[in-house]
Amino acid sequence: MIAVVLVVAAMNPVNIDHVRIDIQEIKRKVKEIVVISGKGGTGKTSIVASFASLAQNAVLADCDVDAADLHLVLDPHIKRSQDFYGGKKAYIDPEKCTGCGMCVEMCRFEAIIEDGKLKNQDSNIYKIDPIGCEGCGVCAYFCPVTAITMEPQKNGKLFISEMRYGPMVHAKLGIAEENTGKLVALVRENAREIARKEGADYIIVDGPPGVGCPVISSITGADIILIVTEPTVSGLSDLKRVEKLARHFNIPATVCINKWDINPSISEKICDYCDKHQIRVLGKIRYDNAFTKAQIMKATIPEYTSGYLADEIKSVWGRLQQQLIELPSAIQ
Ligand code: SF4
Ligand code: SF4
Repeated sequence: MIAVVLVVAAMNPVNIDHVRIDIQEIKRKVKEIVVISGKGGTGKTSIVASFASLAQNAVLADCDVDAADLHLVLDPHIKRSQDFYGGKKAYIDPEKCTGCGMCVEMCRFEAIIEDGKLKNQDSNIYKIDPIGCEGCGVCAYFCPVTAITMEPQKNGKLFISEMRYGPMVHAKLGIAEENTGKLVALVRENAREIARKEGADYIIVDGPPGVGCPVISSITGADIILIVTEPTVSGLSDLKRVEKLARHFNIPATVCINKWDINPSISEKICDYCDKHQIRVLGKIRYDNAFTKAQIMKATIPEYTSGYLADEIKSVWGRLQQQLIELPSAIQ
């Protein structure tokens, strides 16, 4: 559809100003880059923070909400925050409960426990164990006297902040709280909104590790994925899983090998795997304890050093931008 519009625009540039406007809109489309890794500890967050300092006009989204740490490096100033209600838990009204025990029978999570006896009767009354309750709502559905209601639960907090390189959206999930995927979606939604309003070129997402629900929530609809991996047997196996996930959702995946020189032979295997599966390796970064030192100093790598390490990260960022231009869907 876009290609057709472009051809028409080129053939008849006089009477189609409205078409030109549409093309400008398309050109301005913010590009969403998600940086993920099969597991934690690959240096993903340091690389994302470095990209933030290299991008001229980006919104940063920390979607690693289970273990958010981008803020430790970028030290954002919180402008706005809001509570996040991601799920519900059951509540039994002790005034209404007749102690029939139906809910206990129906709850497969064994989250309904005795809470004493009904006045002047032998029957038990029950209460919900909030840790065990998964919020499925089965008990509320089956309770014959509608004594059970499903109550919204505060699972965490969302923050809209400003850091030294622009806007940042991040979040904090409560201890032992769930619904990470929903919170990730909320972070991305807010980042997109800010990017649209401010005319940003990029949204850079620090995605969660693994291949579970929060990762899926981080990558769906993104323009490109950068998988940060390290040269270990588990690193290669994690890379394969993450890449399959990206393929499943039809999102172009690229790879960056961090600490490649700690095991050159596995680094080579990673490159071979990528070659075989048409995945672009955008760069290899050498091991350097400047990663740790920069984090301690709350600095990004290009802020901390101007040496080879910064050059290697800059080169990955440059190639990532180039990949976005070369994407079949991109209009430049
Ligand atoms: S099903 Fe309803 S009435 Fe029966 S024990 Fe549970 S809460 Fe009480
Ligand atoms: S909502 Fe589901 S998990 Fe929670 S107490 Fe009711 S049946 Fe059990």
